[in-house]
Amino acid sequence: MVGHLRFVMIRIFAFMLFFSFLPIHTQASEAKNHPLYQMDVTYHPNQDLVTGHMVLTLPVTSTDSLKEIYFHLYPNVFQKWKYGDESKPTKPGNIQVSDVRANGTSVKESVKDTIMKVPLPKPVSKGQTVKVEMDFRLELPRGGTRLNTFKHTAFLAQWYPMLAVKDQEGWHTDPYTTTGDPFYSQMSDFEITFRLPHGYHVISTAKDSNTKYRSPVVLKQKNVRDFAAVITKDYQVVRGKQGNVEVNLWYLKGMEEVVKELHDAAVSGMKFYSEKFGPYPYEEIDVVLGETGYGIAGMEYPGLVTSIPLIPTDNGEKPAVNVVVHELAHQWWYGVVGNDQVKEPWLDEGLTTFSEFFYMQKMMKEDERELLKRAAKRTDEIHQAVGISSAESLYHYPESIYGMMVYIRPAAMMYDLIEQVGEEKVVEILRTYYQQYRFHTATTQDFIRTANEVTKKDLTPFFEKWLYFKGKSVT
Ligand SMILES: [Zn+2]
Repeated sequence: MVGHLRFVMIRIFAFMLFFSFLPIHTQASEAKNHPLYQMDVTYHPNQDLVTGHMVLTLPVTSTDSLKEIYFHLYPNVFQKWKYGDESKPTKPGNIQVSDVRANGTSVKESVKDTIMKVPLPKPVSKGQTVKVEMDFRLELPRGGTRLNTFKHTAFLAQWYPMLAVKDQEGWHTDPYTTTGDPFYSQMSDFEITFRLPHGYHVISTAKDSNTKYRSPVVLKQKNVRDFAAVITKDYQVVRGKQGNVEVNLWYLKGMEEVVKELHDAAVSGMKFYSEKFGPYPYEEIDVVLGETGYGIAGMEYPGLVTSIPLIPTDNGEKPAVNVVVHELAHQWWYGVVGNDQVKEPWLDEGLTTFSEFFYMQKMMKEDERELLKRAAKRTDEIHQAVGISSAESLYHYPESIYGMMVYIRPAAMMYDLIEQVGEEKVVEILRTYYQQYRFHTATTQDFIRTANEVTKKDLTPFFEKWLYFKGKSVT
């Protein structure tokens, strides 16, 4: 994600540096054994409602047998919004699940806020499969963050019962928060039938090139962590190609002046990242222009990103090229190479912010390296004052320093790494990391190990200094 705050921060950053430090208070395997989601959903725009039936087929891969399954019901966060009036939906939303069956037997789910537990009638061991079926009724919020509906468009983000991740640490039932992107999911396959009222079409994670009205429309996508969909009557499209990948820019009336520049940036961004980091593995990418909630300048989903059309600068507004290329870089860092975005948000946001700055430097001649150096100094001061590092879980960051610590400092780290080992080596580290962890979930330690292997150096102290503030400061 990119928040507006980050851009505001970058703009006021140089200014901030000249002021004395104010204390900040902390608040707080490739393509096998994938879960398969099969859904049949109907959109009822007059009621801001999506009704659906979902069948999740889950191969059990853990050595201990499964006794229950956890799902995230993220839309429930919009029922009683706890995160302040500014971002509060104008109309609440929620998701209700009913008629839950596990391997053919009716079971009683229990729901607490955004977490649902589904007990299994009997334990299921490794090598066997669990099939969970349910009906759901999704009431869409108006003015919601990411999940939203306005005029003749519904943004379906984290909108269905999403399987929680289970790994060596157990089930990840992390609660929602408005700092960062509190989502963590595993590679899955999707087959979704959308039933649409007349005039609507779907823009989604899957390849969906048809804007003509059809219903039902069946969309399938393998090897993705999530499935986002925009159901709309209003969006128009500009199409293009980068290699074999279709690059679509979707826009609304009134945005015409930025369409060409942002579509060109999307095609060029896909080319730049594919050449630097490795090929984008899907057939299509959709860039959807529009603000999808308070403070959200852009957001990434597999095969689909959103961006505001214009970004404010000191010299007035300009087309939001940096937001578009930031979100596209997330296809590499988050989409294909996954990470636990709750536990280690820097790993996708830091690499993505570096990728964005790298693109802007090479392709747009916007060199922010001096700014990044000053930001590094600033984060050293913040660390000294409040003890927080760049590699902590989302919940540890006050919103005011999240962008600096998790986006900006790791980007500065990557530029310092260029000074240490050269640009070609840094690109090779990222290429190798992409190659080794594509369709998997990587950790900070995996990234450091890859960098050490590629450079044949022990860069561990370098990364520990930048990410964990170990040893002497970077500035
Ligand atoms: Zn981001």
